[in-house]
Amino acid sequence: MKITDVRTRVFEWKGRTVPPEPHFCTNPMDMLELPADSMSSFRFHSWLIVEVFTDAGHVGLGNAALSPRLTKQVIDQYLKPILIGQDPFDTEFLWQYMYRQTMAFGRKGVGMVAISAVDLALWDILGKAAGQPIFRLLGGRTKSKIPVYASRLYDPNLKNLAAEASRYKEAGYRAMKMRFGWGPTHGAAGMQRNIELVRCIREVIGNEIDLMAEVYMGWNLDYARRMLPLLEPFNLRWLEEPVIPDDIQGLAALRAAGRIPIASGEHEFTIYGFRDLLEAKAIDYIQFDTNRVGGITQARKIAALAEAHSVPVIPHAGQMHNYHIVMASLNSPMAEYFPVVDVEVGNELFWYIFDGEPVAENGYINLRDDVPGLGLQLKESGLSDFNITE
Ligand code: MG
Repeated sequence: MKITDVRTRVFEWKGRTVPPEPHFCTNPMDMLELPADSMSSFRFHSWLIVEVFTDAGHVGLGNAALSPRLTKQVIDQYLKPILIGQDPFDTEFLWQYMYRQTMAFGRKGVGMVAISAVDLALWDILGKAAGQPIFRLLGGRTKSKIPVYASRLYDPNLKNLAAEASRYKEAGYRAMKMRFGWGPTHGAAGMQRNIELVRCIREVIGNEIDLMAEVYMGWNLDYARRMLPLLEPFNLRWLEEPVIPDDIQGLAALRAAGRIPIASGEHEFTIYGFRDLLEAKAIDYIQFDTNRVGGITQARKIAALAEAHSVPVIPHAGQMHNYHIVMASLNSPMAEYFPVVDVEVGNELFWYIFDGEPVAENGYINLRDDVPGLGLQLKESGLSDFNITE
């Protein structure tokens, strides 16, 4: 089988969006004296779709959501010329070829996101050619269905927050994740606002549902150190990205404090990045996203490395490319899940682009045994909500 063409398109949402409230979610821009809507620069309202065509008629579908326009340029200019004429089954060779070809400017960030999107498309072709879902190429089922955690709870209004947490509890989720709204520039008073958010949710859901909390790189080591003892009574399952991803020593210091498990990795890349995190004993949970970290070709290697360190992998963002990894790994006890809502931060766009994403029932999703590849198709209807750039 040979690759005959590679097509990239950027889907930009033109529908209604919900503007974020102040203190909607901490983020790394909070440290700067910017207008209050700094979260708006972290909203993602477009998606990259890559299709890899073959002479056997199989079309692989890959996707990426970080800087789609730049990712498209990397694929079009650097990766497509490598791929044409190659055998899509040579995933390891092609990954190395793409990695080494873009190494001078790639390695981490947008270069690796581009490689990830292509790699997903190649694995989709493998699955379609074999007539098997990807998880069955990775080792098959390790669980009859995948527990998922509801990931939202952005609302700084306590009444709304309590109602939302209550809805997830009623829907049968056994874990959920909230966002903090205040960081170092808001001082000790902001710390109390953060605690109020956690307390509000804990009171609603009780102690028999896991609660995780997201900082999204919005704190620093000093602030996080001060927050840990305040948060400890609420028995958080993990504290997510409390400092920027380059502060590996900061993550390690927080983990060494032993008060709350530390999770990170959605902004880390390749087996080398995770080797460094594991060697530094910086994290209790690995959260790579397969469509950033280097595709399935890298994700499976990192999953193996994580297993040897007894560090669970609970990928960022759910979605099919991550669900296949979770299904095939005993070291991945659950997956993230973004409930279907109005388009808000952009995490939700995939619901509007793809058919085939499993919908949670009673806190679980499942993958079908009879749908080959990733199990996704572009939606036939509804794409008129997007401006599409070829
Ligand atoms: Mg996160």
